[in-house]
Amino acid sequence: MFDYLITGAGFAGCVLAERIATQLDKRVLIVEKRNHIGGNAYDYYDENGILIHKYGPHIFHTNARRLWDYIGNFTRWEMYQHNVAASIEGKEIPLPFNLNSISKLFPQRFAEKLEDLLIGQYGYGAKIPILTLQNQTSGDLKFLADFIYKNVFYGYTAKQWGVEPDQIDASVTARVPVFVSRDNRYFQDEWQGIPSGGYTRMFERMINHRNIQILLNADYRSVLELIPFNKIIYTGPIDAYFDYMHGELPYRSLRFELETAEAEYVLPCGTVNYPNDYALTRRTEFKRLTGQKHAKTTIAAEYPEPYRRGENEPYYPIPQPKNAELYRKYELEAEKIAGSTHFVGRLANYRYYNMDQVIAKALTVFEKDICGK
Ligand SMILES: Cc1cc2nc3c(=O)[nH]c(=O)nc-3n(C[C@H](O)[C@H](O)[C@H](O)COP(=O)(O)OP(=O)(O)OC[C@H]3O[C@@H](n4cnc5c(N)ncnc54)[C@H](O)[C@@H]3O)c2cc1C
Repeated sequence: MFDYLITGAGFAGCVLAERIATQLDKRVLIVEKRNHIGGNAYDYYDENGILIHKYGPHIFHTNARRLWDYIGNFTRWEMYQHNVAASIEGKEIPLPFNLNSISKLFPQRFAEKLEDLLIGQYGYGAKIPILTLQNQTSGDLKFLADFIYKNVFYGYTAKQWGVEPDQIDASVTARVPVFVSRDNRYFQDEWQGIPSGGYTRMFERMINHRNIQILLNADYRSVLELIPFNKIIYTGPIDAYFDYMHGELPYRSLRFELETAEAEYVLPCGTVNYPNDYALTRRTEFKRLTGQKHAKTTIAAEYPEPYRRGENEPYYPIPQPKNAELYRKYELEAEKIAGSTHFVGRLANYRYYNMDQVIAKALTVFEKDICGK
């Protein structure tokens, strides 16, 4: 008899399993349909012995000390600050777009003029969403806003989502603002790193407990009638749980193409974005993230594509009002069974969560809904 049946061995499922097992001394069964733990943060060594993030590059970053401390119980860290370049007009410029990007793109005197205008208007250190910068109505800042929108945001967003950028919620472009500074770091959170030895090793430590059992290669539905349990924690897609009774929630998917080169490094930094050229959006060199030393290197090229259920992975919920309305219908269904089933995680909450956000969500569900604090 298990106290909890947890569907999914990603962050949401494993954090809750760990809390329930260690803090409440209750028994947990995690059922995972893939052949591995870790959810989308899973990593593995490829045939060349290079550590790969199977579902896309993952960098842990947070401003919340308690989350950094919590996850640090299960891993040591490779200290890592992510640097991203965008390939624009044949030059590689720092992203998020900042004062250094301006210096690389424009002749010196014009660049200095643009920098002075930006600092004068917004102040050094400001972070400005591109849609705010576009409120400029005339002059050189208007030129700059249009240049950045056209060359940095438009093509990338259109490729990423497969629709015109104005059809996507403004919060998407706001995630990567323009920085009025010379700080090239992609994330500026206080705590950042990559687990030493990888995410999968970290997950193994997290769920290594006598109260936790794990069943891989199994859909949770296949065990419902076979294994007795009290409550469910569900971290899979919420529409699937309710048999798509209100229709399918749309997602954007990705295809990764891996390429190994006989060179120590190929890219100038962790990731290079291609906003305007090619069908791919970005290339990532894993060794730059993980700090691994190896004579060869493996690069992942990332191609966005439509999500087709059963054929590829549901990666990004598509942020549009009609999808939020559809999700709300499922959320109401979930509320009806809240006493016996908890819905947690990016698929169950139909929300893009960073890793620290999904850990925070799981810890809150544990404290409020499970412990009743
Ligand atoms: C390309 C990409 C890059 C990212 N990079 C970063 C980054 O750099 N930094 C960051 O903080 N975050 C990043 N993220 C976000 C990160 O991946 C998520 O925060 C995290 O994976 C969410 O964990 P989860 O447990 O909610 O979901 P998941 O990791 O998806 O876990 C859910 C699990 O449930 C399983 N499941 C589903 N249905 C069933 C079923 N019926 N039966 C059994 N099992 C089932 C799935 O197989 C999956 O393993 C990135 C996301 C993407 C897509």
